[in-house]
Formats: sequence, structure tokens, C-alpha cells
Amino acid sequence: MKTEIIRISGEDPDIEALKYCGSVIREGGLVAFPTETVYGLGANAFNDAAVRSIFTAKNRPADNPLIVHISDYGMLQGVAAFNNEEEQRRLMALGEVYWPGPLTMIVGKDEQIPPAVSCGLQTVGIRMPVHPVALALIRESGVPIAAPSANSSGRPSPTKFSHVYEDMNGKVDVIIDGGDARVGVESTVLDLVSQEPTVLRPGAVTKEDVMRVLGTCAAYDWKGLEGKVEKPRSPGMKYRHYAPVAETTVYAGSQAAVVARMQREIRSAAAKGLRVGVLATDETKKLYKEAQVVLSLGKMGDSLAHAERLFDCLRTFDTQDVQVVFAQAVSEDGVGDAVMNRLFRAAGGRIIDCIEEV
Ligand code: AMP
Ligand code: MG
Repeated sequence: MKTEIIRISGEDPDIEALKYCGSVIREGGLVAFPTETVYGLGANAFNDAAVRSIFTAKNRPADNPLIVHISDYGMLQGVAAFNNEEEQRRLMALGEVYWPGPLTMIVGKDEQIPPAVSCGLQTVGIRMPVHPVALALIRESGVPIAAPSANSSGRPSPTKFSHVYEDMNGKVDVIIDGGDARVGVESTVLDLVSQEPTVLRPGAVTKEDVMRVLGTCAAYDWKGLEGKVEKPRSPGMKYRHYAPVAETTVYAGSQAAVVARMQREIRSAAAKGLRVGVLATDETKKLYKEAQVVLSLGKMGDSLAHAERLFDCLRTFDTQDVQVVFAQAVSEDGVGDAVMNRLFRAAGGRIIDCIEEV
């Protein structure tokens, strides 16, 4: 398939180009587009065959549901079928504050949405993105857009046009080049169907943010997930994901203990002739001279910067043919929780607690 590349800037969106991309979606094609979180791979959410072709392009497991993207509340029609008034009240209350934005809400699904979108679940995840190109694309296509992240399944999510091009060129009709994603990690997935609203996947909108609006919110214990839960409530959570090719390990603890431990690991990997990648911070990046590729997530504690950079760093390890990655754990405050969730999964759950040596 020949993929068209169309550049559309968020500052001054080209409406004619957006109308064209909208028509591709409406007629059953696939369009990769920028959002504020990561790039998405979109299809007409009402078109079963188009939705299925997303799974083929990504090589996505058939039990990992897609998020439906809308541009206004009128589009909830035919997408959401609320189970009760409380569910609808919660969606509207949160929407008031966080839509458009990086929050996906799970509610009852209307039967007009084909089963492929939600992989047979009776629920649907819905989001109104804030990126001007994403919003205008949905508006111009005139239909809700089902879209997962625009990466090949298992690879780190795409935060730059070049990432999407790497994974999707030749597999989709159009890739819109709209610059870099601002947030950098996927949306918060919030279950509104269960008794207590529950964060299934952490993102830029935190559990505390939800609590401020609804007065209550639980969060799925993602650290307890790996290998222990057979049927996670959010199907996507069970896969090793976001992962560079290299085996990745995360080191947590005091900075001194982590640096000392990682320096030892680097030396022993180098002795085996392995090409080593390190994920550090601005403060520590100079301390890993024996590693071949050292990348920084930004200033320590700057969770927004970490989120923005994480996936690009993981992909860079791949392009640099790194064979083993040692990563420093970062703060879990705010969006940091989402960063550590992705890092944890990139490492297949391998986190080592480092003890201070005296
Ligand atoms: P992606 O956009 O590629 O990050 O994938 C969307 C993610 O949203 C999936 O991996 C699921 O974890 C989550 N999701 C979408 N729809 C549902 C749903 N109906 N119930 C639970 N989780 C969902
Ligand atoms: Mg994804």
C-alpha cells in the first residue's frame, strides 16, 4: 500500500487537507494522526471492516480494545449507552474539567459500535482529545474515530512523526505529520462502570484529579499485575509493552545506591561484550561513561519532561542497536506514576531495589 504523508500543523491547521483526511476515515481508510498524548491510528468507529484493519496494520492482539475519539458531546450518540444516570453524571462532571484532554472514560457501549472496537466487551472507552489536528480530523470526518496508538504492537508508542513512519509506512492510507506529542504518555483510562470509579491505566489526569471532581476514585495496582492477574480488567495491561528490543531492568532507591549498582551492572555487561544503553537523568548522565548509549529523561523530578521523552528514548535504544538497558526509576508524583507504569512494563516488571552500600 502506498502511504500518503500529509503535513498539518497544530498552529495553523490546513482545513482542505483535514477535509481530505476526514473523507479517507469516513470511507473506511486508516489515518495516523497526532494527539496531545501519542500518535493514534484511526478508523471510522462505526465501520467494522475498517476497525479490523487497524488490528492487522498494528499486528494487535484481538482482545485489546480501542478507544473511541469524539470531537463534541453530540458524538456520544450511538457510541455510549450509559448503564445508569450516575455513570452519565460522572462522565459529564469529569468531561467538564478534563475534556478535551488526555482522559479516556469507560462506560456502557451502544450496539451501533461494532464488537471489534471493544473486543466483545459491553463497555467502550471514549476520549475527546485536545490536539487541534485530532479534534478537527474527527469533526471533518463526521464520525467518531476508533484509534489505538499508532505503533506496531509491543513497540513503544509513537510520540514523533518519525516513529509513526517507522512502524506504519506502507500499512495505512495516510500519516499526518503534526509534530511532536506534548504529553508523551497515553491517556488515563478510567472505568466509570464499576461501583467506584477506577483508574485502569495511569496518565496525565491522575487519581487525585478524578477524586477532586467525583469525591472518590480507586486505582488498579499495576505493580501487582505482572504475571499475577489472569484476567486484567483493562485487557491492554497484560502485555509486555512499550518495550525496546533490549532486555531492560529498572533500578530504584537512593541516587547514590542506584548509580553505584548501575555502574557495576554496566561493567559486567561490557565485560560480556554487550552494547549497553542507560536511561539516566540530567544530574546522573555523566556518571555512566562505560555505557555506549546514555539518554536522559530530563531533570530529576520533572515528571512532565520524563513523560514527553520516555518513548523516544526507548525507541532510540533500538535504533542504536543496544542489547541491554539499565534504567533509573523516577519520581511517581503526578504523571510520574504513568511514566513508571510504562517503564515497569517495558522492563517486563523487572525492578531492582538498590540498597545503600556502606
Ligand atoms: P492504546 O490506545 O493503544 O493505548 O489502547 C487502548 C487501551 O485502552 C487498551 O489497551 C485498553 O487498556 C484500554 N481500553 C479501551 N477500551 C477499553 C474497555 N472497554 N475496557 C477496558 N479498557 C479499555
Ligand atoms: Mg497502544
